[in-house]
Amino acid sequence: MSYDLVIRNGTVVDGSGAEPFAADVAIQDGRIAAVGRVKDRGKQELDAEGHVVTPGFIDGHTHMDAQIFWDPLGSCSCWHGVTTVVMGNCGFTLAPASKEKRLLAVRSLERAEDISRAAMDAGIDWTWETFPEYLDVIDQLPKGIHYAANIGHSTLRTWAMGERAFEQEANDDDLRLMKGQLRAALDAGAIGFTTSRATAHETMDGKPVASRLASWDELRSLARVMGEAGGGVLETTQDSDARSPDPQLRRLAQQRLESLALDCGVAVTCGAFPFRGMRDVWTAQLDGCEAVAAAGGKMFMQTHSRGINVILSFRTQLPFDKLPLWRDLRALPLEQQRVKLMDLPYRQQLVQAAEAGHYGHAVGGGEARKPDWDRLYVYDKPLPPFRSVADIAASLNVSPVEVMIRVGLETDFGALFMQAMHIYDEADMVDIMRSRHSVMTFSDSGAHVSQIMDSSIQSYLLAYWVRERQKFTLPEAVRMITQMPAEAWGFTDRGLVRTGMMADLNVFDAQRLMPDLPQVAYDLPAGGKRLVSRSQGILATLVAGEIVHRDGHHTGALPGKLLRSRRIR
Ligand SMILES: [Zn+2]
Repeated sequence: MSYDLVIRNGTVVDGSGAEPFAADVAIQDGRIAAVGRVKDRGKQELDAEGHVVTPGFIDGHTHMDAQIFWDPLGSCSCWHGVTTVVMGNCGFTLAPASKEKRLLAVRSLERAEDISRAAMDAGIDWTWETFPEYLDVIDQLPKGIHYAANIGHSTLRTWAMGERAFEQEANDDDLRLMKGQLRAALDAGAIGFTTSRATAHETMDGKPVASRLASWDELRSLARVMGEAGGGVLETTQDSDARSPDPQLRRLAQQRLESLALDCGVAVTCGAFPFRGMRDVWTAQLDGCEAVAAAGGKMFMQTHSRGINVILSFRTQLPFDKLPLWRDLRALPLEQQRVKLMDLPYRQQLVQAAEAGHYGHAVGGGEARKPDWDRLYVYDKPLPPFRSVADIAASLNVSPVEVMIRVGLETDFGALFMQAMHIYDEADMVDIMRSRHSVMTFSDSGAHVSQIMDSSIQSYLLAYWVRERQKFTLPEAVRMITQMPAEAWGFTDRGLVRTGMMADLNVFDAQRLMPDLPQVAYDLPAGGKRLVSRSQGILATLVAGEIVHRDGHHTGALPGKLLRSRRIR
């Protein structure tokens, strides 16, 4: 007999956390048919000598909802070994919404997640209203990776309530509509329900996103619908109270989440972040997960491997863009900006304006914010350490603003800068990632496309935390991005290199794997720009048994599927 494909001579890191072992992996009909010494030939063979073979990576927190319509590959996640993503997080989805009322739905995505309205208008053929209809459309799209879809609370509200969703609590009729549609979505295969209570989430016109108007009772009654339907994952952004300096408020916020999980029978998940000085917050979150587990429920935290950074450049955004003098400059084509920047008296005015400027408040995660020069770095190589702009400015005895201008000019405006959004405690970051109650997943891939580049958190984990810093073994880290998210979201047929599992696999050189520096690309529908990041060291990524990427090049295969959930508890 022969197999469809045999991966030979690789070292298998199987996703369970077990020690690596030498083995061939045989694939038949999209699934793993044998792991070990494989004598029979494959119709196709892949030599993995010197490479590790792992399950495809699973990312539970993306915003691919719009991008899936114009990008069949699932970039940039697909270039970092990700083969399954969950989309529709933080309450923002494209259904339910009729074509006529779609603007209410995309209003939140546009600001809160930085997904361009023009790209959505040009790239999406809106043919659905209900969530089940939307799933049927997704099902038919060509896909290079697998997708599971959440239904979002903000969108559910605007569908049921129209403009009132941005202003009011739901009345009985609204709630009845929402519950019915949520149940229909879950029955059709939505993997979960998502919401946001984060004050950072605003619409384009500065209003809170619709889910923030919901009462806690509304959220509970929707969670109960999930429980009745058999469960599912309820994702919520962290409540502002959860970070309050008042321990009583923090405890109440935590208890609300725990009771959602236990009383409503849903798996609750939200982010846990290693902000410096906030160890109490995330330890309480992880302890809460333990308590919920002990009581028979399920709750897990999501974290990431890098810390959220805003990417800045002359080609995308700078912190100074909204300051009056800079606004005029930045409205010009880059070549004219260059000419103006060479005019030294004018440049001095720009420096002063940036130093003394009044910076508005940034929302939505990725908007540029007031520079903190010690935490603003020249991002000129894929992995840390990076030099801060403050450091360079001190060594040259010039203003940090002048440093950014010089670096911009010297690199034909190609230079990137990285601005940390928060002060992170590195040891805490490792502790959170290591917890059995957290999943390393928070790429936000598909969102913040011109502002942040976190589609590479998986390759970053393996390159930086495993190889450079040796905080995790390769098997530990691979498990964090395969079996653990598979278990968290109830993907029972993937996340391990085992016979019978889906043949979603990565073959990579563990000594070479790393993310590339982001680049600015103009590949959105209607010519919009975004940051893209590829990787080095991945020989092949297989999806459902087919090689989709080889040495970073798409083979033409598009075997990805919509994963409709069977309900999980
Ligand atoms: Zn999100």
